[in-house]
Amino acid sequence: MDWLGLQLFTELPVTGRIVIDCRHEPLLVLIAFAVASAACFATLDMAERQSHTELRAAQRQWRVLGACCLAGGIWAMHFISMLAFQAPVEMHYDVSLTGLSLLIALLVAWLAMNSLDRSEMRPQHYLQSALLIGLGIVIMHFVGMAALQTGAQQYYQTGLLLSSAVIALLTSLVALLLARYFRNGSGTLHQTMKYGASLIMASGIVATHFTAMSAMTLVIPADTALRLPSGDNSLQLGLSIAFITLLISGSSISAALADKKLQSKEDDLRRYGVLLSQLDQARESLQQAAHYDALTNLVNRRGFNQIFAERLAEQNPGEHRLAVMFLDIDHFKRINDSLGHDAGDELLKVIANHIKAATRSHDLVARFGGDEFCVVTSLNNTDEARHLAQRIMQRMKEPIDLGGRRMVMTTSIGISIYPDDGLTTEELLKHADLALYQSKGSGRNSLHFFNSSLKSRASLALQLEEELRLALLEERGLCVHYQPIFDLRTGQVAKLEALVRWQHPLHGLMGPDRFIGIAEANGLIVDLDLWVLRHACQDLARLQQHGFTSLKVTVNCSAVTLGHETLPNEVEVALFQAGLAPRQLELEVTENALMGDIEHTVSLLKRIRGQGVGLSIDDFGTGYSSLAYLKRLPLDVLKIDRTFLQDVPGSLKDREIIEAIIAMAHTLHLEVVSEGVETVEQHEFLASNGCDYLQGYLLSRPVPLSELRSLLDQLDRQESVFSPCCDTALPGSPDLFADTLGYRAGASTVRQGH
Ligand code: C2E
Ligand code: MG
Ligand code: MG
Repeated sequence: MDWLGLQLFTELPVTGRIVIDCRHEPLLVLIAFAVASAACFATLDMAERQSHTELRAAQRQWRVLGACCLAGGIWAMHFISMLAFQAPVEMHYDVSLTGLSLLIALLVAWLAMNSLDRSEMRPQHYLQSALLIGLGIVIMHFVGMAALQTGAQQYYQTGLLLSSAVIALLTSLVALLLARYFRNGSGTLHQTMKYGASLIMASGIVATHFTAMSAMTLVIPADTALRLPSGDNSLQLGLSIAFITLLISGSSISAALADKKLQSKEDDLRRYGVLLSQLDQARESLQQAAHYDALTNLVNRRGFNQIFAERLAEQNPGEHRLAVMFLDIDHFKRINDSLGHDAGDELLKVIANHIKAATRSHDLVARFGGDEFCVVTSLNNTDEARHLAQRIMQRMKEPIDLGGRRMVMTTSIGISIYPDDGLTTEELLKHADLALYQSKGSGRNSLHFFNSSLKSRASLALQLEEELRLALLEERGLCVHYQPIFDLRTGQVAKLEALVRWQHPLHGLMGPDRFIGIAEANGLIVDLDLWVLRHACQDLARLQQHGFTSLKVTVNCSAVTLGHETLPNEVEVALFQAGLAPRQLELEVTENALMGDIEHTVSLLKRIRGQGVGLSIDDFGTGYSSLAYLKRLPLDVLKIDRTFLQDVPGSLKDREIIEAIIAMAHTLHLEVVSEGVETVEQHEFLASNGCDYLQGYLLSRPVPLSELRSLLDQLDRQESVFSPCCDTALPGSPDLFADTLGYRAGASTVRQGH
């Protein structure tokens, strides 16, 4: 077959002379091998860079450079080897065919670099690429051979020609595998292996060339004269080509090296960046945990302090005003105690949302813990603060479904204004807290602004606390007044309620409403209650000595005292020291005192009742008692709160409520006491509805022990007992007088044997 003047797969001609004196210049062969090795190494480097770059443009650049190195290497090896070839014939090169062979080399190299770019290489991909590249190399070689212009014909021996093609194919396959393998990795071993791989690849290329060369036989016409092989300028040309190729390879390797360094720096930077952003995230989540409340996602007290301090620093006292609102959910503890903490948490979340919904986006809303919230808002005038507070209170009243119940919560709010009420966070919070205290004191579900009189009231409370402590310690100033409780069936005074008073040197006679709260807040209440208990027992014993033997005394017991484990012992000791029978004592506990740890309270109350002491539930109807509660408690008496009686008999609703309470109490085998009986109509209404006992100003105000005996004596003599003389120093006590009371006609006191 004649191809570009080459005789492929053709038998040698019968005529003509075979040129046998052909040889290769060893130095040039060596140079060719060195050039191929350097080019292969550079190509491996380019392939590595190509796979490490994520930018498409940079990948293309490395691919072009890799193709140039590989093509240059193959072609230069081929061309230098051709220059090394010496035969006794005239030899020169056809430029266009030489150029074409270079182009083919470039195409093959481009193909190789492209196939390396695949993200995944399957065996068939390797084979396909190796086939194309190998074929390309063979074609390049023979085009290059065709460029060799001599007087001789080139005949190629089929076996060796095919062998060179197979070697080209295998070399391509191995080169692809190696290039793929050396894309990743680093270190000296990796580098050494890469040198080895470059030598293997170069050997393959050289082997392809020389196998093809050995397949060639030059045949000249028989009459052509042979000439001596001449080195002419082959060495010089070979060296030049080698130099250029090595320069290309060397530059490419340097560029790859620089890029590698740059990339490792970039990688380091990226790693630092990732590390920094992780640090940032960690710091943020720490900040979140430290400054935000996990339950409601609102800022917590610490976060509030920080943000508020920053806001205050930005403020100009002359220009802007701020409102600080302290919110406290009314009776939240009862929810927690009765429905459990999970329900309490759920409720707090809903409440937090209500507050957020009522505020504006730039208002600062914080949860300080428990059921305390705080809102800071900027103002143009004070009314804005009032409106916002009212909006919050209104929102709060929206019914909330919780644990199968629908409930309506209310909130108390205290407000202080910057700069009028303070310039610092502490001052403003303290003053808002004082205003909140005022809201709670005035029956809750209300809002109050701070004013300076609150401050003096707060310091008064502090002073009172100190004085109360002293009064208890020295047993000075405290006294007990007694209010008779009448038995409606017998018309007799059956019990006396012990009500504490404080004869203050400055403020005069103070009612419990003015100091019980202070005592409860400071733990003084237990001592106070026990003091009243002991006194009440002693006083009843004294009355007993005067013949009032069937009287009972009832003593109020606060929630805090009820939580005291030693209470049953204290009761026992008080009774023992006074020489009273347990049935002569009744303890009054409010509904709210029962809402705490119900199991514990029930067991404590059972112990007390087990001693024979009576138990009554005070102020019934103002708390959260349910029938289920009442059923479980070991009670004897139920006292209807006086607020139900206020509008009786005018209010039909209140009348119905009282009727229902009496009926319910009787069903539960409880006796009923009505507090706050002030009018004859109220008395008649209660009497006609089966109430068991009455207590109220109509019948008698609370009186000191000194006046009690004469009061009881008056009753005994069946005179009018409704004297205004008692307790007149107490503020808020209405002056009620009952002129005539029908039922009293037959009333007698309980003095016996006197
Ligand atoms: P309480 O136990 O419900 O006592 C009844 C209160 O109602 C007494 O007020 C009494 O003076 C008043 N009251 C009685 N009848 C009438 C009436 O017809 N009209 C009006 N407006 N009020 C009437 P006081 O003495 O001011 O006691 C107030 C509360 O202080 C008591 O309510 C009780 O809860 C508490 N308290 C009194 N003494 C003690 C004590 O020694 N320990 C504890 N923990 N609390 C006490
Ligand atoms: Mg009471
Ligand atoms: Mg009461």
